[in-house]
Amino acid sequence: MEITFLGSVGEVGKSAILIKAGGARILLDYGIKPNDEPGFPAHVAPKDLDAVIITHAHLDHSGAVPLLYMDEGPKLYATSMSLETCEILLEDFLRLSGYYIPYEYLEVEYMLERAKRVYYREPIRVKDVEIELLDAGHIPGSAQVVINADKRVLFTGDMNPIKTRLLSGADTGQTDVDAVITESTYAKEMHEDRQELEKRFVEECNRVVKDGGIVLVPAFSVGRSQEILCVLTAQNFKHSLSTDGMAVKLLDLYLNNREFIADYNLLEKASRRVNIVSGKRERKRVLEQPGVIVCPAGMLKGGPAAYYAQHIAEDEVSAIFLVSYQIPGTPGASLISEKKLIVNGKERPVKAMVKHFLFSSHAGQKELHSFLRSFNPGTKVFTVHGDADSCEVLAKWAKENCSLDAIAPSLGMSYEL
Ligand SMILES: [Zn+2]
Ligand SMILES: [Zn+2]
Repeated sequence: MEITFLGSVGEVGKSAILIKAGGARILLDYGIKPNDEPGFPAHVAPKDLDAVIITHAHLDHSGAVPLLYMDEGPKLYATSMSLETCEILLEDFLRLSGYYIPYEYLEVEYMLERAKRVYYREPIRVKDVEIELLDAGHIPGSAQVVINADKRVLFTGDMNPIKTRLLSGADTGQTDVDAVITESTYAKEMHEDRQELEKRFVEECNRVVKDGGIVLVPAFSVGRSQEILCVLTAQNFKHSLSTDGMAVKLLDLYLNNREFIADYNLLEKASRRVNIVSGKRERKRVLEQPGVIVCPAGMLKGGPAAYYAQHIAEDEVSAIFLVSYQIPGTPGASLISEKKLIVNGKERPVKAMVKHFLFSSHAGQKELHSFLRSFNPGTKVFTVHGDADSCEVLAKWAKENCSLDAIAPSLGMSYEL
């Protein structure tokens, strides 16, 4: 078996791994680097591929896949949820960054036509290779991939072993492998205990609303917004709760796919009590009373969150609670570091309270360590999907503490197993 890394080495973005085994060539993910001008992974000729597998719908894993479907293109495998989410995200990506994207909606359609929906743990056969998708606990529909040929390899994709309100946590029993390719996003950071984080977050929301303020929670439309609605509902948050924009579309998708949701009753309860905002007039009305508004964009780069932020920024009793990692250079990052809001290039002073609660959907340092501890000594480990330092640090830790044969791979390099 040969593994070639076409992207996501020493960075988060452009996830792309080529596997040659059992007479087949299989591509795991083909993602972009999300930026004002998106970056693309190393080239691969679609005619040379026997299959493509998408671990999950985030654009850093799926955004370049339509490039492989200019012509007929290889067979594509993913969970039904990943495919439906991909369609929504790729359409949005084309709408917002179309000028920089070397494909059009037609290629997205071709891609979806070639797709086969697979269940978790359903065996997929490509020539002499058997492939299996396992729940990754990252976003609804997310998967890890097990490749079974002359050697056995596990690719984690993005994963979270911790149970959240929305997801059951990654399926992590597959330790009898020759190699594991693991994400390293938070190799250097410990996550706060989830229950304490939830409690602290809901207490702060209650405090602001009781004082007559509005809490804006900018959150990703895929998974995070619905997770926050579930957290508030589970913790008996009694005040006005609203959601808006693309988060509503994904909420509907999740309500229609109960098999991908850990606590479906909770999601349903959250959906019944939340106020769905649509249109300008309603947006204005929501701003007239105390309550919590959960909506995208998660880093305040556009979306309804940017609209609401402008309106509450100068209100001392209101608050903006960021609930995900903020990429440096985004409005969310400058809001935290400099307490200023930059919308449409204009800077506004911020009097509202700003706080950061990291509701991560990735394994933190502690979870990555206990995950790696479960493999047999001598197992080959490749650390990807983290900044260069995180990938190096995790590989070094695995070598020194678990006697694993770990390295942070380099771009374009092939490794023989
Ligand atoms: Zn992801
Ligand atoms: Zn990712």
